[in-house]
Amino acid sequence: MVKLRGYLVDGFDIYGLRFNVRDLVNYCFCPAKFYLTRFLGLSDKLGIDSIIGRATHFGYYLVSENYFRFNCRNELYRFVLNFLFDRFRDCLSKFEIERISRYVVDFRFNFPPIGEVKFEVEVYSNRFNVSGCIDLIEGDVLVEVKCRDRLYECDLIQLCWYALLFEDTFRIDVNYGFIDLIGAMRRVKVNIDDELRFKAINTLTEAINFTLNFNYSKIKFTGKCDVCSLRSECHVMINL
Ligand code: SF4
Repeated sequence: MVKLRGYLVDGFDIYGLRFNVRDLVNYCFCPAKFYLTRFLGLSDKLGIDSIIGRATHFGYYLVSENYFRFNCRNELYRFVLNFLFDRFRDCLSKFEIERISRYVVDFRFNFPPIGEVKFEVEVYSNRFNVSGCIDLIEGDVLVEVKCRDRLYECDLIQLCWYALLFEDTFRIDVNYGFIDLIGAMRRVKVNIDDELRFKAINTLTEAINFTLNFNYSKIKFTGKCDVCSLRSECHVMINL
């Protein structure tokens, strides 16, 4: 059987709707969130959690970029700490910046880069009319970085979409990727198999159907509302 490669799916985009992987992740998380962000133009609020997330991403990029420049962990730690302190001292405490710096350095020493590291690689597929930006690529291996300690199904869908777009952009097969759960000090290997590819493509089909046949009554509570960044907006605008 031929694998569902990104470059082998013909004639998928029959409606001309363009999506970003972020849209599909939001749809997968909750159709109401997809609606609020895609059609009402709302974006995630910049609360303390998202600032910590940005600082962690930024710190992780720095560590990855400079991993081979420093001889010891403490030198790298001080380098990252100084950078993060300059950039985030107005919104994060010194204690928090030290904690993030220590975490990202420890993580990278536990899981050293497995090849040349590229950051925020833009990918786009004409076939699907979907675009995205991959956090990290080590050699030819895609890596998605998460600051939390838990994995959600939408994280797998997200990584799979990057694989489909990477294949269509660069014509290189992707058989697996990693999700780095910084908060859990875990690197999770994800096989990009046909089952996951089918789920990812199905998410796009559902998002297109939802867009073309929009119906408020289809929006339901999902049980994820407690961790949703748009909970108050959702309550006011969709009245759930
Ligand atoms: S509050 Fe709940 S229903 Fe509303 S967007 Fe968030 S997860 Fe979806």
